Amino acid sequence: MKKRITATRQVLEELQADYSICTKCKICQGVHVQFCADSRFWRNCPAGTRYRWEAYYASGKMELARGLHTKELAPNEVMRDILYACNLCSSCQEQCYEVKQLLPTRVFELMREKAVREGWGPMPEHKALADSLEKNDNPWNLPKKKRGDWAKGLPLKDLNKEKAEVLFFAGCTYAADPALLKPVRAAALSLMEGGWDVGTLKAEELCCGAPMLLIGDRDYFETYAFENIERFNALGVKTIVAPCSHCAWVFKEEYAEHLNEDIKVMQISEALWWLLRKDKSLDFTSEVKMKVVWHDPCKLGRRFDQYKKPRAVLEAVPGLELLEFHRSMFNSLCCGGGGGVPYAFPDFALYTAKERLFEAEAVGAEAIVTSCPYCLQMFRKAVEAKESPMKVYDLAEIVLMALGKEV
Ligand code: SF4
Ligand code: SF4
Repeated sequence: MKKRITATRQVLEELQADYSICTKCKICQGVHVQFCADSRFWRNCPAGTRYRWEAYYASGKMELARGLHTKELAPNEVMRDILYACNLCSSCQEQCYEVKQLLPTRVFELMREKAVREGWGPMPEHKALADSLEKNDNPWNLPKKKRGDWAKGLPLKDLNKEKAEVLFFAGCTYAADPALLKPVRAAALSLMEGGWDVGTLKAEELCCGAPMLLIGDRDYFETYAFENIERFNALGVKTIVAPCSHCAWVFKEEYAEHLNEDIKVMQISEALWWLLRKDKSLDFTSEVKMKVVWHDPCKLGRRFDQYKKPRAVLEAVPGLELLEFHRSMFNSLCCGGGGGVPYAFPDFALYTAKERLFEAEAVGAEAIVTSCPYCLQMFRKAVEAKESPMKVYDLAEIVLMALGKEV
């Protein structure tokens, strides 16, 4: 038996009271309309919007869960495809919980865990992620020895050799995608500009496990979580900063209770806000004359209610005009990159990213700013596909511009 972080696990059947009393009211199929003036943007579920069959909406998948429970339905490839063509964006849960107090997204997460346990999930395309993890300790085929290359030339401490107050955990996606080099370097540099004592694990950093948890392989996720938790606790750091909203999600939701009590976990947008508003150690001296719209990553916004801090950081940037999407904050539309969708259903992922790009154009933005590597990747693909002049930035890149620095 591999080491695990959960002694007992929540299983799908514990949410029977959720999936068996879903009334198919379909409240989960739209945004909170009182906060969205333009009806063109009232749809909120990427899967239902793309596929247009009831089964792809939360209401349909709740019925699949009920059918599995009562054995009226047996798993098959169609059910598997529907289950994995879901961004796990929590937008349905945002709507449903307000009115019915049900947890549809949690049901779908546990359905995926059941699918993996029983051998009918994940999607065949997801196997490549696990294969790369086995070989490289990251899902993106980045050779282990190159994992720390993103930090070359930055004056970060090497936590394998010396102590630091802050662990900057780059994450696999920022470390592996050359197009995300600037954002991850900007994030680390901004923390140092703010006076924090920052170190990284360089090539010794491991995957946080989030991609495995998303596809329902909790066992595999927990082997990484267990090893990371032991290492983090031994480092003696006081703060862990993750530029990736998915790393931050699992650190906060899954690791936190096993971490030393004095370790605080922050996603980069929270850390930048802290430096700006609490430490008052970031000096925004350069104008960034741009109309930007802030995209709330699902794992940052709906999952952790982090809506105000990134906006406060952007509002402090001289010359910058901050716009809002029609579907904003709790109403935010997924970028298309959530839930492991891009690897199994790339056309669907791009479809959703293009829809979000259309919305950014509709509100008059020159740039989309966000704080998640998957969102950055999806928006850049959409910009390329639509040959749009829209720019795409990580929040940390904007901060670095305001500081008058370059990476
Ligand atoms: S998941 Fe909730 S909001 Fe959606 S149809 Fe069922 S009860 Fe209604
Ligand atoms: S989690 Fe997102 S994509 Fe999945 S059913 Fe809910 S709203 Fe649709």
